[in-house]
Amino acid sequence: MRLVLLGPPGAGKGTQAAILSEKLGIPHISTGDLFRANIGEGTPLGKEAKEYIDAGKLVPTDVTARMVEDRLTQEDAQGGFLLDGFPRTVEQAEILKDLLAKNGHTLDGVLNFEVSEDVVVERMLARGRADDNEETIRTRLGVYRDETFPLIQHYGDDIISIKAEGDVEEINERAMKAVGR
Ligand code: ADP
Repeated sequence: MRLVLLGPPGAGKGTQAAILSEKLGIPHISTGDLFRANIGEGTPLGKEAKEYIDAGKLVPTDVTARMVEDRLTQEDAQGGFLLDGFPRTVEQAEILKDLLAKNGHTLDGVLNFEVSEDVVVERMLARGRADDNEETIRTRLGVYRDETFPLIQHYGDDIISIKAEGDVEEINERAMKAVGR
């Protein structure tokens, strides 16, 4: 199954993706995690990405798309994946579509995790990641509204909405049902 996970920052996509990945037997591919791993290892990609991430801005699409393409061509992703954090713009959605089309593939669905902005801010402040201070959170929510939210309309009927407030197990049951498992 080839799935994209959408939702505002702090929607809990990462938490749900980890559980879904295990249950569905497909890898969780998170652009945020890939960037953080590169930053931790001090790679050139990590150095380039860090300034954008620390400011709450999007890393340039060409850099991000190359990293995603590289990850999607790895062996474990051939039978499916849960893509978390990409696409984040309509332009990135078109790039993903073309990448998949090269191998005759399409997405099976787009899971949209719905949460209110209050819950999102609360969750981000609680997890205390390096880029989770109040100013960056505000910037990232603005980027989400302007650049990522339009993806919901872009994907249209492929969107599967999941109410993502409540406890982790409950939300996971909704997500499993949504993908027909
Ligand atoms: P969150 O789930 O809180 O939004 P992520 O871990 O997904 O956080 O992403 C952290 C940061 O990594 C983003 O704020 C952005 O700077 C960068 N990033 C992640 N995915 C992308 C992408 N598809 N395009 C550009 N930048 C990205």
